Amino acid sequence: MSKIKLSNIAVLTSGGDAPGMNAAIRAVIRTALTRGIAVYAIHDGYRGMVAGGDNIMMMDWDSVGGILQQGGTVIGTARSDEFRTREGRRKAALNLIREHIDRLVVIGGDGSLTGANLFRQEWPDLIKELVDQNLIDQETAESHPHLLIVGLVGSIDNDMFGTDMTIGADTALHRITEAIDALSSTAASHNRTFVVEVMGRHCGYLALMGAIATGADWVLIPENPPEENWEDELCRALESGRDIGRQHGIVVIAEGAHDRNGNPITSTYTKQVLETRLGEEVRVTILGHVQRGGAPSAFDRYLGTVQGYAALEELLNQQPDQEPQLVGIRQHGVVRSSLVECVAQTQEVARVIQAQDFDTALKMRGGSFAESYRIFRTILRSHPNPAKPGERQHNFAILHAGGLAPGMNTAVRAAVRLGMDKGHRLLSIGGGFPGLISGDVSELGWMSISGWVSRGGAGLGTSRHIPAGRDFYAIAKNLEAHQVDGLLIIGGWAAYQGAYELFNRRNDFPSFNIPIICLPASIDNNLPGTELSIGADTALNNIVTNVDKIKQSAVASRRCFVVEVMGRDCGYLALLSGMATGAEKAYLPEEPITLADLQGDVAELSAGFRGGKRLGLMIRNEYAGGLYDTKFMSTLFEQEGGGLFDVRQAILGHVQQGGNPSPFDRIQATRLASQCIDFLHAEVGKPTPAASMIGLKGGEIQFTSIYDFPRLIEPGFQRPKEQWWLKLCPIAATMDQPPTKENSSSIK
Ligand code: ADP
Repeated sequence: MSKIKLSNIAVLTSGGDAPGMNAAIRAVIRTALTRGIAVYAIHDGYRGMVAGGDNIMMMDWDSVGGILQQGGTVIGTARSDEFRTREGRRKAALNLIREHIDRLVVIGGDGSLTGANLFRQEWPDLIKELVDQNLIDQETAESHPHLLIVGLVGSIDNDMFGTDMTIGADTALHRITEAIDALSSTAASHNRTFVVEVMGRHCGYLALMGAIATGADWVLIPENPPEENWEDELCRALESGRDIGRQHGIVVIAEGAHDRNGNPITSTYTKQVLETRLGEEVRVTILGHVQRGGAPSAFDRYLGTVQGYAALEELLNQQPDQEPQLVGIRQHGVVRSSLVECVAQTQEVARVIQAQDFDTALKMRGGSFAESYRIFRTILRSHPNPAKPGERQHNFAILHAGGLAPGMNTAVRAAVRLGMDKGHRLLSIGGGFPGLISGDVSELGWMSISGWVSRGGAGLGTSRHIPAGRDFYAIAKNLEAHQVDGLLIIGGWAAYQGAYELFNRRNDFPSFNIPIICLPASIDNNLPGTELSIGADTALNNIVTNVDKIKQSAVASRRCFVVEVMGRDCGYLALLSGMATGAEKAYLPEEPITLADLQGDVAELSAGFRGGKRLGLMIRNEYAGGLYDTKFMSTLFEQEGGGLFDVRQAILGHVQQGGNPSPFDRIQATRLASQCIDFLHAEVGKPTPAASMIGLKGGEIQFTSIYDFPRLIEPGFQRPKEQWWLKLCPIAATMDQPPTKENSSSIK
């Protein structure tokens, strides 16, 4: 008898469900099929693995079509007590062996990954026991000597080591932000305080980030319990907020919040405290399972997709004696680490909190968590700290330049509060560089930007005008007249170009010899010195929500949509929205498009529709293909499609720039603005102060001199030379098209 060499792969979701799990399942399955490997889904987590039978199903390309936009997990999840027993795990091993599965992608929380590791360690013994019990033969046992495992973290709490973000946390933050924004408006109408409880037993991530993103007044998290008599401090904070005109109060509590002695702080207790001491009605809202639900955000779809793809690659490359790996994300890059260590570290934080070693707990959450906490504590105050004796007060001016980007207001609010807290005066320049040229300068107060944390648009106004010619003289005059000591320019291409022009003329205009900092805010994500710019995440979510609707509108007919998105010379929005919506194709300005390419695409579309496909989706960046514009493409596809399908175009337009900023944009805008203020504070008064671009790289904040601006951009185009996201093209291509044409037979 010939040796059995089959070695199949399976994917399961376990523990609590999380939005974005479906993207990961889809990515694992489609990547495996592209590599020619049989792949199974195990329904209902370990329970299905122990029960076997129909719970372990072979998957094909179409079985994961149309699931990207669905919340939860389409293959189900469950908790299994039987899997906690050796007997249960032996049954699970037998069920896997029957399908020749010895490689697993487990998507779950630390409990699920702990179980996976135990299963892997026991595997050789379990197999031996199955042989001893005559349940499998020796030959089969020898074909599957090891179990290989890769873990992905699906958990809304964002509570795992080894990854900056867990699958589901961003969507949960969307739900929390939407809810608190809505509560804020009703609370303001009634001058009322709300206590909002969010999920997070050991982890305050959702509570802290939710509070920052919504401008809440107070937050209680497990990692940093409040001092003794916190009740007094909380009431004082709310009262002084009222004194300066805040119309409402929002207190955010993580469900695992407790005091320094480990006694739980409940939302009911907090309500009682506030009602008794403030003598006003207080309402409690427990957000509960709403936080888990709904369509996944663009980021969670992205996260699930890239991690699912990487998990499969990792499984294919893993050696039998290699430790199981956890695939995570650091900023936008996939990272791999020891699954066992990540689980141990995660459980260590819970232990440290239990042991009331809160400093260590806060440190273990990482630098940006503690930094966010500090920023939050400053911004929420009703007054700035008094100036330190001997510190000079400086005038820092803020202006926008470039197209509108949601999050601009959030950045201004943070800069004003944090700048004033450092003892400085903050000036607004209205309407971008034209405002600086005409002298539209006024002072911003602590409360003048109240409510701006969540507001779309740009309260200061913006313009794409880049100073030239005589503008510089006018700008110099106004900088002198208003004694501007530093400039914070929050915006896109025009902001960067304008800052560079000023920097270049320092020798001609001494008043330009001040610190200048550019904060990237552009939905196009086309700026050098940063991997991401503020506004792009909101735009991406706007696109994804609208494309979901467009797709739904077409279920009854055979139709192909050509959707045009913004981005100018940069294809970021097109590629990422294509990945998040399951488009067949994303047309990018970075790649030339020939008529032959388009003919090839029509041929593929036609083959798909002939095979039963009912919906096609092509995403085109507004500049991609030059004269082959959206209308041309739509007409070509319809004409050449031979009546197999009709084609509709949808130009999304300005909805992409509209709406309130996403939680991610609000949080990053706040973080970057804080660092910009620190930068101005440090550089002001130096003989040659720096002029820089702030950015995010690998999760860290970095500064690049504006001097490098021309060197970093692609000549003739408004985009950087290096664009990290282009390396996602092969992943997008893997998900988009089935490996053989015969498979392309239903909705994506
Ligand atoms: P999460 O993965 O979200 O942390 P749980 O802790 O509930 O969720 O774990 C999900 C499932 O993983 C459990 O029902 C159980 O089947 C399995 N599991 C968890 N911990 C272990 C363990 N120590 N040993 C074996 N299986 C475990």
